[in-house]
Amino acid sequence: MLGGNYASVITGLFGIMLSDNYKKLTHRRFKLATYLEYLFAYSGLHVLQGAYYKNVGHLTRQHYYWFLLKAQVLHVVILSALLYMFGGFPFIIWGMGVRTVIMYHAHFMVNLVCHIMGHQAWNTGKLSKSNWFVHLFSVGGGWHNNHHAFEFSTRHGLKWGQIDLTWYMIRLLEQVGFQHVALVTDIKLSSVTHKQKTSFMNGANNMKLPSKVREWHLVNFVYITVLLTVHGLCLFAPSNFNWSAFGVAVILTVITGLFGITLSYHRNLSHRSFKLPKYLEYLFAYFGLLALQGDPIFWVSTHRYHHKFADKYQDPHSPIKGFWFSHIYWVFNYNKIIHESGYYKNVADLKGQFYYRFLQKTLVFHVFLLPVLLYKFGGFPFIVWGMGMRTMISYHITFMVNSICHIWGHQAWNTGDLSKNNWFVGLFAFGEGWHNNHHAFEFSARHGLEWWQIDMTWYAIKFLECVGLATDVKLPSETHKKKDVFQQLPDGRE
Ligand SMILES: [Zn+2]
Ligand SMILES: [Zn+2]
Repeated sequence: MLGGNYASVITGLFGIMLSDNYKKLTHRRFKLATYLEYLFAYSGLHVLQGAYYKNVGHLTRQHYYWFLLKAQVLHVVILSALLYMFGGFPFIIWGMGVRTVIMYHAHFMVNLVCHIMGHQAWNTGKLSKSNWFVHLFSVGGGWHNNHHAFEFSTRHGLKWGQIDLTWYMIRLLEQVGFQHVALVTDIKLSSVTHKQKTSFMNGANNMKLPSKVREWHLVNFVYITVLLTVHGLCLFAPSNFNWSAFGVAVILTVITGLFGITLSYHRNLSHRSFKLPKYLEYLFAYFGLLALQGDPIFWVSTHRYHHKFADKYQDPHSPIKGFWFSHIYWVFNYNKIIHESGYYKNVADLKGQFYYRFLQKTLVFHVFLLPVLLYKFGGFPFIVWGMGMRTMISYHITFMVNSICHIWGHQAWNTGDLSKNNWFVGLFAFGEGWHNNHHAFEFSARHGLEWWQIDMTWYAIKFLECVGLATDVKLPSETHKKKDVFQQLPDGRE
């Protein structure tokens, strides 16, 4: 049993992680005394993970590596024979069987899990993730997003809490070397400049933020009051339930959520992904106003900045500043900035139209008109369900697109930001949950690009197109798709 454990450490940590096809040989991140380089590479051989060829001229030129490549089988047989000699069949089972299986799977996990699940700390433009679970089994290999960000870095666990046994071992070897017989030299690490370049917080900085982002103003308290009122009304929902109130909530959700926010504010006004006759454009935008998410000029401006600075520091609601910031807290910070600093620069097309300026000035009036009407027709239950429950649900669905769809889900396209496709949000947000598709093809009227990616808003647009109302409906072409797909390699390799 011990034989297996020792062999794991020796061949795994010293062999694969420290030497062969890993840190030393693949990335040339530090220099070892030649005899140690050869020794560790020899132990890496015993992990039975083969060799690569064309891009490793620096290795195949050395007789030693050429010899290892040709005589691989021999060395593996020798190790097995030695194990058998010292401990019989149990040493073979544990030292060759169990040990190798564990290490195979640890290695496969880095390749597979670390490109699917975990946290992206750096904007690598690839799928690599840092995964603490994998790191437990792969002596530091799990901090894979760090590694893709700084391939050359000897250290993968960049923060103190990110345990990286391989790095500790290299550090130890560096320390035990004597003045004239250095064992490890030329250790490469990522500098602060490297980190700034790769950080999500860093972006093309042409939008200056005021120094005090978290100032509190009257408008912040107005927004908090609205949010608290909406959530507070929901407390009365069970005791004020009746089917017509429930029906009003459902109808208003579709009218203000689907036609107002996703179809009008988002796909029509923000991205101009299709055209509508003016009267219909204005009507749908009015529905959006009743979703209590602000007027079109504010919403569209904020959203266009979100795309422009996706997951950079200036992004109005990116989870790089924390989940709750991206979900709800940004509301209390951002609107003031955008008001005061004239960031409506990116919505000249809306500001140029009297109708949208009128909605902006008279927002409060419209927001109060609806509940008055609701009260007149159905009393307090209509207020509770039509203004409370309906708005609360559509708030959190919209917020989920901002938070969850930039944290959890699948990246189908190489967008270089954190946007994800999330089927759960897709289902409830009228198709907005296919958010990685959307970041890849902002102009597209359709977000659920596959037939199975349910996208209610797209079905509505398609219907409007069929009856001749929606025109100039934009969709990504095959060329667009090829450009953004992950499978394509920039240097023409296969
Ligand atoms: Zn968008
Ligand atoms: Zn987004």
